[in-house]
Amino acid sequence: MSRAITIDNSKGTVHFGELVYLYLSPNRSVVLERSMDYAGIIVDGKNHHFARMVIQRIRGNFKPEIYLKPILILNGTAHREPFLRTLIDGTLFSFEQITLVHDHLGSIRQRIKDLNLIHSLSVEAQIITKLLAFMYTREVKELEPISYVYSNTNYTFPFVACHYPFDDEHTIFEVMKIAQEEGLFNSEFFDRTYSCSNCHSSHLNYREVCPKCQSPNAISEDLIHHFPCAYVGPISDFTNQLDDQLDCPKCSRRLRHIGVDYDKPSILHTCQKCTNTFQDFNVYAKCISCLYENPVELLIATDILRYTLTKKGEYAAINGFSSTPKDIEQIIGTVKYDTFKTMVKYEIERLKQTDGSSNIVVIKIVNAGDFYSKVSHDAQKVLLKEIVSEIRSSIRSSDMITFHSSSTILIAMNEIPKRISERITAEILQLLRTLIENNFKDFTIQLESNVSQLNYQLSADLQMDMVINAEVNE
Ligand SMILES: [Zn+2]
Ligand SMILES: [Zn+2]
Ligand SMILES: [Zn+2]
Repeated sequence: MSRAITIDNSKGTVHFGELVYLYLSPNRSVVLERSMDYAGIIVDGKNHHFARMVIQRIRGNFKPEIYLKPILILNGTAHREPFLRTLIDGTLFSFEQITLVHDHLGSIRQRIKDLNLIHSLSVEAQIITKLLAFMYTREVKELEPISYVYSNTNYTFPFVACHYPFDDEHTIFEVMKIAQEEGLFNSEFFDRTYSCSNCHSSHLNYREVCPKCQSPNAISEDLIHHFPCAYVGPISDFTNQLDDQLDCPKCSRRLRHIGVDYDKPSILHTCQKCTNTFQDFNVYAKCISCLYENPVELLIATDILRYTLTKKGEYAAINGFSSTPKDIEQIIGTVKYDTFKTMVKYEIERLKQTDGSSNIVVIKIVNAGDFYSKVSHDAQKVLLKEIVSEIRSSIRSSDMITFHSSSTILIAMNEIPKRISERITAEILQLLRTLIENNFKDFTIQLESNVSQLNYQLSADLQMDMVINAEVNE
């Protein structure tokens, strides 16, 4: 059965069966929010700058409905750019060719449904979650560095780089380092790159300069050592206007054979700026971005690695990656989510032996998006710390706190009746509301909570999932 392709020029859409694709070209204004309902986005590939701008915006967006969207490049040569090649899902030379990629895009859309995406605690963790989700939906397990002339770091990881402006592109290596330290990737050496110690750009102009004044403007000539009289000087001391022979300026004898009566022991450089003469240059790398003269020994060396997803990485691809160790370290008084879960497992084992009551409390910041957008990244950390210390002040020191995401906080209250846990939780919510009210005059935080008693007949994994996804009470 062949389905017809129809094009709606006024809306910029391409219809194939029930599927609607959005077509973006430089002649149309780009509204990404609109792209949420589409089966995919077709980007005109004739103007590379346009294609880069649009694709970077799509992949750099934080909404899964947008950043995971299948992208096709139509016409032109933008698809040949190594940077874009890793970000797109296919190339078309006519709208009719959608039929050729239909199955491939269908499988991407199918795999997107497997994902259980979470809001991560930090921007870095959020980007790692996105990267894993992108790789999972594209069935990619290897991440190869791309050498790219438009990259500020010379080598880049395009998907990660979509999140950073040109000047901050070097941050991609820190993100990948965190992902590796978390055990999500294995790595092997690929190459090494050097960057400016002032601005991190790798666009450097290496040159030999005068050790006295740093000017690269020098002329170089052979140094001659005349054996009979031991005179040493530049070759220009030995030349004359009358013939092309060499004559010694000290003893006035003609030089005969190199190696017999004279030698060229090295090269002499004369600076054209300060007239300094010297035998060894210094090497400086002038940064093309910020113009800083870097002594080469002070350049920042970065190992460029090739990454392979680990089993843990594959798991995190589907289930999300909530925080980096750095995030948690900075929030004193919390434990890592994995640690928390293990602890719940032990508590369930313990409950099988005893007849106690232990509870897990979930507190959700309903308007977390608004909340975090009001606060700078650093202030977020400070505020989360204060939130934790408010919670800490209401619970016992043996109770554990963890962040499942930046909007979901879990507290384990062991050996305590459920109704007492509920009363404490209500107190905590009140404290948190007051804390936010005092810090943000025109912002009301929406908090919801739920207390569930651990059931020793169900697994920890199941109960944690139930708690996190539970309908919560105001
Ligand atoms: Zn620089
Ligand atoms: Zn000089
Ligand atoms: Zn001589």
